[in-house]
Amino acid sequence: MTLLAVAEVGRGPLDPNAPVLHADDGGVLRGRAVFETIRVYDGHPFRLDAHLDRLAASAARIGLPPVDKAGLAVAVEEALDAAEESDAVLRLLWTPGREGQGTPTGLALVSTLPEGHDGLRARGLRLAVVPWAPGELIARTKSTSYAENMAAQDEAGRRDADDALFVGADGIVLEAPTSNVWWREERRLFTPSLELPILAGVTRATLIELASDVGYGVEEGVFPLGRLLTADEAFLSSSIREVMPVVAVDSAQIGDGRPGPAAESLQRALRSAAGYPLDR
Ligand code: PLP
Repeated sequence: MTLLAVAEVGRGPLDPNAPVLHADDGGVLRGRAVFETIRVYDGHPFRLDAHLDRLAASAARIGLPPVDKAGLAVAVEEALDAAEESDAVLRLLWTPGREGQGTPTGLALVSTLPEGHDGLRARGLRLAVVPWAPGELIARTKSTSYAENMAAQDEAGRRDADDALFVGADGIVLEAPTSNVWWREERRLFTPSLELPILAGVTRATLIELASDVGYGVEEGVFPLGRLLTADEAFLSSSIREVMPVVAVDSAQIGDGRPGPAAESLQRALRSAAGYPLDR
């Protein structure tokens, strides 16, 4: 991804190639900041309000000053105007600001979309199981303390997988480092419950709404890894990956080892909810 534009709450558009945060910002020094990643379809950030709500909840959870949602919405418009790119990644960042000053910093960043997602969607991902014991606070918070998530992705790469699958010490399926996980048994879809230490994905919520329109029931619950391994198909969901098929977990092939029909129809339904054609 390449950063195209940045706007700061109260300051407007800034030079995307110039430093923005101070060296003593709590986000930099302590990893005490929260963020959101949002897909922009044809100039429109998808479910911006839900992302602003989650940002505010994440900030409250880790004790940051309240999020200025209206100010961030203005910064989003400014950054999108400056970026001149209608299909993009929008990120929001909310930090506590400089040590001892108590003035939070809010940023909207617009970047190019990552490459290769359509190819990955056509072939399906291979996941590597990584044991996961997140702290309660961090697991449900989209905080910038993602070092462990990124380390898990690196480990998956070393094991010739595309991404990690987090499984608790009790063998319960949780999520992936930057996505929620799903699988299908006949006409029913399964995804881990929000009672577990996972992030409440905006895409997850969207797919729960859309599933019945494409003929699937949804069950949220607490499931052992064996359920996923013996499923008919599996997939991940996130704002940027959208609906991404999973064809293997470690040495186990999922279903027939190819992207499945529920992932395909949910991807189509998601794009249609975003008012954006599938083949663009
Ligand atoms: N789980 C984690 C840990 C994430 O970081 C993310 C997104 O970045 C998700 C799930 C998916 O969330 P969303 O659908 O809101 O992008």
